[in-house]
Amino acid sequence: MPEHRTSDVGGRESRSTKILLCSPRGFCAGVDRAIRIVELALKTYGPPVYVRHEIVHNRYVVDSLKTKGAIFVKELDEIPETDAPVVFSAHGVARSVPEEADRRNFFQLDATCPLVTKVHKEAKLHARRDREILLIGHAGHPEVAGTMGQLEPGAITLIETVEDALAVTPRDPDNLAFITQTTLSVDDTAEIVDTLKGRFPNMSAPPKEDICYATTNRQEAVKAVAPQADAMIVVGAPNSSNSQRLVEVAQRAGCAHAQLVQRAGDIDWSVFADVRTVGIAAGASAPEVLVEEVIGAFAERGEIDLETVSTADEDVIFNLPRALREAAAE
Ligand code: SF4
Repeated sequence: MPEHRTSDVGGRESRSTKILLCSPRGFCAGVDRAIRIVELALKTYGPPVYVRHEIVHNRYVVDSLKTKGAIFVKELDEIPETDAPVVFSAHGVARSVPEEADRRNFFQLDATCPLVTKVHKEAKLHARRDREILLIGHAGHPEVAGTMGQLEPGAITLIETVEDALAVTPRDPDNLAFITQTTLSVDDTAEIVDTLKGRFPNMSAPPKEDICYATTNRQEAVKAVAPQADAMIVVGAPNSSNSQRLVEVAQRAGCAHAQLVQRAGDIDWSVFADVRTVGIAAGASAPEVLVEEVIGAFAERGEIDLETVSTADEDVIFNLPRALREAAAE
């Protein structure tokens, strides 16, 4: 354990806080790609660039793109007739959205993460094979709305909990498949899947895990740090599913105090009064600058001893849409 020092700086008690920084943390390849799409569209075509839904769930990112000329809308009917690009967010959209954009002759740039598109393709493949589909996910999340919207209403049944898995009554238990949201808790999902497989042994599973590499890796990093930390901070947005899951994972891994903060100004310092070791993680849509801001806030309050705890290396990069590749190459 590091030495713990107490000194008096400017009449204020100061002491050394050990910070365990989770790695991987923050931006994943899908978020990075989505932000680059909006930035490159602004650079190539000039403002405005319309974006349906928050491009990624992070206010800092959204606000900084707004200052560059991006206009965020909830639905396409808020967009006037225009030649400007219209970007769909990383979470993916229901089939009806590009159909509507086609009808209105919008220049579409799809920032849906390729790993979400993979789940959409699985759903369509199951539908072609006449399988009933169970989607494990959270109601109201835009990714779930986008995935369910790939097929006709009623084709996909949402399973949110083990209770839902116990209660669902498929038409034909031998012609059933499941898919999942990409940003779920790995452990909770395993429990739901086990429940479903126990009831429906012939159910088709995704060929490869639908929960994405970034979600899995960030949860593993939190699991490594949480048992060693007196408290944890997860940098992320309240509407970011993968960030919310990191808070739950920290709590379950033995860290009693886990706070989700969007920025350093949100930190509840009363929790850290007696804390010696702090874990810091960041959801897949949280930029590193906000992690640095949080570390800086601890440094302003006293000496810090920073250590990175790395549980995986990431080198995933996704291609940009063809229309933007040339602009990116310049
Ligand atoms: S969290 Fe996963 S699915 Fe979501 S954008 Fe990132 S890589 Fe894609």
